[in-house]
Amino acid sequence: MQEAEFDCLVRQRIAAVDERIAAACGRAGRARSEVTVVAVTKTISAELARRVPGLGLSDLGENRPQELVRKAALLTDIPVIWHMIGHLQRNKIDLVLPIATRIHAVDSLRLLDALEAAAAKSGVSVSVLLEVNASGEATKHGFAPAEVPALDMAIAALRHVRVDGLMTMAAPADDPEACRPTFRTLRKLRDRLGLRELSMGMTNDFEIAIEEGTTMVRLGSVYFEGCS
Ligand SMILES: *Cc1c(COP(=O)(O)O)cnc(C)c1O
Repeated sequence: MQEAEFDCLVRQRIAAVDERIAAACGRAGRARSEVTVVAVTKTISAELARRVPGLGLSDLGENRPQELVRKAALLTDIPVIWHMIGHLQRNKIDLVLPIATRIHAVDSLRLLDALEAAAAKSGVSVSVLLEVNASGEATKHGFAPAEVPALDMAIAALRHVRVDGLMTMAAPADDPEACRPTFRTLRKLRDRLGLRELSMGMTNDFEIAIEEGTTMVRLGSVYFEGCS
């Protein structure tokens, strides 16, 4: 896709999504400033991704470590807040740590411990979210909701990793209303741990997630479908 065509299309889509976000905030009695959009650039080229901050979205997310590293290296001259939103293996921590401001899907205590060790070694601090498998699908990564309350001890022991909240992916559903119980579960767990952030809501269900209190939506296809 040509750059001018991309700019025009994505600008329109951003405006349309902004209206939907504002309306969902309105229904929930929330301020628009409580919701951060992470634009998921995994389906578009680095050349197109570098246009996105100029269109108004400077939080960008990638779900694969190598692709995060590749795109970030090509966009160093642009102010981007990078989010690692996908599954992270321990042997990829050193790739991601220098780039990602936030790691969304920490799904085990082993990974949390390895992140703490790596962050301590390189003298950095990093914000993470714990992934919860709130929909209970067997194939999915994440902590079971029942084990989350007991994580408060492990969280309190961290020095270089800051656990700021919880993240989940709802089960795919034709009707986004079906995601509401999953989002509600995550919010209750977040409140119980006294954390601030929730990363939930994607293209198909972000308005429900906002109504249920999310602070971050991860949006890809609603902006970039057909743009590759
Ligand atoms: C791809 C992806 C998204 C964005 O999904 P869309 O439905 O395209 O908005 C969000 N979160 C994660 C973890 C992803 O991998």
